[in-house]
Amino acid sequence: QCPWGAPNTPAISCSLADVMSEQLAKELQLEEESAAFPEVAAVAEGPFITGENIDTSSDLMLAQMLQMEFDREYDAQLRREERKINGDSKVSISFENYRKVHPYDSDSSEDEVDWQDTRHDPYRADKPTTTPRKGFIGKGKDITTKHDEVVCGRKNTARMENFAPEFQVGDGIGMDLKLSNQVFNALKQHAYSEERRSARLHEKKEHSTAEKAVDPKTRLLLYKMVNGGMLETITGCISTGKESVVFHAYGGSTAEGKVVPAECAIKVFKTTLNEFKNRDKYIKDDYRFKDRFSKLNPRKVIRMWAEKEMHNLTRMQNAGIPCPQVVILKKHVLVMSFIGQDQVPAPKLKDVTLSSEDMTKAYHQILHMMQQLYKECNLVHADLSEYNMLWHGGKVWLIDVSQSVEPTHPHGLEFLFRDCKNVSQFFQKAGVAEALNERELFNAVSGLHITADNEVDFQAEIEALEKMNEDHVQNHGKKQSMFSSDGDPPIYDE
Ligand code: ADP
Ligand code: MN
Repeated sequence: QCPWGAPNTPAISCSLADVMSEQLAKELQLEEESAAFPEVAAVAEGPFITGENIDTSSDLMLAQMLQMEFDREYDAQLRREERKINGDSKVSISFENYRKVHPYDSDSSEDEVDWQDTRHDPYRADKPTTTPRKGFIGKGKDITTKHDEVVCGRKNTARMENFAPEFQVGDGIGMDLKLSNQVFNALKQHAYSEERRSARLHEKKEHSTAEKAVDPKTRLLLYKMVNGGMLETITGCISTGKESVVFHAYGGSTAEGKVVPAECAIKVFKTTLNEFKNRDKYIKDDYRFKDRFSKLNPRKVIRMWAEKEMHNLTRMQNAGIPCPQVVILKKHVLVMSFIGQDQVPAPKLKDVTLSSEDMTKAYHQILHMMQQLYKECNLVHADLSEYNMLWHGGKVWLIDVSQSVEPTHPHGLEFLFRDCKNVSQFFQKAGVAEALNERELFNAVSGLHITADNEVDFQAEIEALEKMNEDHVQNHGKKQSMFSSDGDPPIYDE
């Protein structure tokens, strides 16, 4: 006899077969899930969500979408692992129990044994007894309620299998151990907090191994650009480097009605810090950053790279040097115009085969650009080579200027000399007869007259000049550096 009388809501009449049906259980669950979040159920597959009809106005929504996507990836990975382990073996194991149960579709705040949970029935294999929603099964004298101690105890024991794989539960599962609800709940609580703790511990590792993919915060930034309409769609990744990931996107338009280029490149500066350490020397001695560098945390320093690239590109744009046009800078994400067409980026100079005519033309153009960069933009590229020059529309485009410095940078002239070496070597190898050697090129760009006729002496003279300038700056202040082409105030003078 049922100890608290008949349930006051009459049981929905359905056949026992229905109650036992796993198919039905799954359907019910699906129904429940999609009712819990109709909006996100519409989320498309793929790395980016784009499109106009998805309401993504709130940050919470975006965060949940990101979580959903993460969970989907997690579950997909789980399935791959499962397949890998099982192979074509007759006996297979299932990771079903470790799939992400979505946090947003559960409204029970207490971490209680969930009696509606029919997925993890421990006796499913030989005796499919699912506990129905009404809370009891059987008829008359043989009725088993959800509070039956023996059944519950066994179930609780079996449920320990649902804890994370690395959680040691001992061999209670093999014995006829009956755990009381209280004990089970305590254990479950513990297992979950262990899982969270371990997730925190491993977080750092995962960040640095997530090579190609951008981190969730960056994704959120990108989503916002798409949802704000500034970008139409982000189509894919163009390049993954040590320090940045570059994506292609189709432009939209801004709220202010500004025109966004039809095709854009999105350069995401990596927020994993170790790769950036070797850049210290560029920025540390750059007086534009002097006051800021010491006070900043590394994350902010990375934003400064993006900021620097933006300012340098703007200077180049103003001087008429062919380079990407800045669209917008958001934190460590720089959007600029795309050099190329129909999602195909323009080839790097190192990858393109040019006629000797075009090659000679390219050389003269680069010589001119280097001079403009130095004299008009007051900049040295500092990573100039056939890798950072693109061939597009019959001319050379300069890219990748986040590390560019002003000539008065304590190592600015050395950087310029290195750039000259790369350029001379490339064009001499390419058979451009009139290509200057690196020393001639250096003088032609800088307007200096270093006379040394070999590399070692030349290098020594450059370093002597740098030293003189440093001393001069020490004595007279940074604004009167000796070979600054003009008196432009540094852009970071606050
Ligand atoms: P990294 O520091 O990783 O070298 P780059 O700025 O050189 O960063 O970008 C990496 C690659 O991405 C480039 O070699 C080029 O192929 C592509 N790329 C970068 N910016 C653009 C752009 N505006 N248009 C087309 N392709 C670009
Ligand atoms: Mn590059």
